[in-house]
Amino acid sequence: MTRQFELKELIRSDNFIDGQWRAAADDARFAVTDPATGTVIAQVADSSPADARAATDAAARALPAWRDLLPKERATILHKWNALILANQHALGALISLEQGKPLAEGRGEVAYGASYVAWFADEATRIYGDIIPQQQRGKRMTAVKEPIGVVAAITPWNFPLAMIARKIAPALAAGCTVVAKPAEDTPLTASALVLLAHEAGVPAGVLNLITASRDHAVATVADWLEDSRVRKITFTGSTPVGKYLARESARTLKKLSLELGGNAPFIVFNDADLDAAVGGLLAAKFRNGGQTCVCPNRVYVQAGVYDKFADMLSRRVAELKVAPATDPDAQIGPMINIRALDKIARHVDDALAHGARVLAGGKRLPELGPHYYAPTVLADATHEMLLCGEETFGPVVPLFRFDDEAEAVEAANNTPFGLASYFYSQDVRRIDRVSRALQAGIVGINEGALASEAAPFGGVKESGYGREGSKYGLDDYLSIKYLCQGNLA
Ligand code: NAP
Repeated sequence: MTRQFELKELIRSDNFIDGQWRAAADDARFAVTDPATGTVIAQVADSSPADARAATDAAARALPAWRDLLPKERATILHKWNALILANQHALGALISLEQGKPLAEGRGEVAYGASYVAWFADEATRIYGDIIPQQQRGKRMTAVKEPIGVVAAITPWNFPLAMIARKIAPALAAGCTVVAKPAEDTPLTASALVLLAHEAGVPAGVLNLITASRDHAVATVADWLEDSRVRKITFTGSTPVGKYLARESARTLKKLSLELGGNAPFIVFNDADLDAAVGGLLAAKFRNGGQTCVCPNRVYVQAGVYDKFADMLSRRVAELKVAPATDPDAQIGPMINIRALDKIARHVDDALAHGARVLAGGKRLPELGPHYYAPTVLADATHEMLLCGEETFGPVVPLFRFDDEAEAVEAANNTPFGLASYFYSQDVRRIDRVSRALQAGIVGINEGALASEAAPFGGVKESGYGREGSKYGLDDYLSIKYLCQGNLA
């Protein structure tokens, strides 16, 4: 029988190292708060380099035995973990909403989404094939085998506290790697709960280790992993500046990196689009998690022939979105994660208004709900000199840019250092072919706003990073290829 936990049983406040819950080496703690109310949920371990080192020691010790399990033995454990996550979907969903602020339905949805990667990689564990290379010389046999890369350090952001870490830990464990992980300061509790369930599923001591740290301690703590040559890979999801820093700093021990970084997604609506579908797709893509996702459309380009109609249809729907704490069952947009996030959104909107944008919906903070709420916003007459064109707003703000022809839209869409997701709506098959080839992005939504799936490769190009999560390619980042050359056989 798969065990079900109460929400309070899932809340852990210590590090998990070598199969045990432990306070930080120096006993330091930091507060985790509910972004809706500011209430302190827990005081969790504030790690230092000593804790990072202890986690690496455990992961390095556990590596040989985990690597040597049969793939189907690892798969069995991962399937149990998946079953436990799903059996605890409601409690985990509530925990996500509590520490991250997203509406409950989205919290539960994230649990199912994260679990889907665990199930996927449990199956993929049994499909790690190598190659027999066609013979080149008599008496010589050449083969290529895939091996786990070793100890993996996973560093994750706050916006999907369960899914982002699940889609790193699951492929790492499936491949036969051991893991040290650090979640974001704002949302460590869901990650700890996930690790608790992994332990319950039978992941052996030392195979999966998690340390939590405040923003003040994160740099020094993670630096220990960057310097440690036993850590062979960094898998990171977060902002582009931090991704670049990790790439630079880990170069001294030449680690393999997967970097899922920031985006600045364009969303293009052509005159020949199905406008109802485009509005629906934009609402789904933009307002998930209050606009705090890396694949959220950040710049919406609308062709002149449908601009006014589309702006009208969209702003009516946006004005109807319900902003409320996660505990309200009708909530569609919750609080933003913290005051820094809110200040950035307000700065982007103020700057756009100063440069001539017009508010069609929202455009203001909602202090009556709490300090972290911002009204879902549509801005018309957006232009390229505005801050929100060059930077990810990471909030519920849709700026509408007007364009005349396809070449202009594609050039504007690509005019960014980023290249994660992009979207366009058109019913012209030739245009669909041209534009999907021309867009510089790792992911293209064509008449579709919901793109993520465990079966599909997720990742960016340009300064949105490298590596792919999910799909049959997702294990490659955790494997290295060994070439075996056997001679003197004849
Ligand atoms: P972030 O500031 O880069 O932080 C991400 C993680 O890195 C957190 O755990 C953070 O710890 C840690 N960190 C920050 N600075 C560090 C340093 N110098 N050394 C070691 N660790 C460090 O990003 P965020 O604000 O949490 O997340 C939002 C960003 O993530 C956006 O840009 C978004 O587009 C991107 N994102 C990308 C994807 C994708 O798949 N491409 C998915 C989701 C989000 P603290 O929490 O303690 O700062």
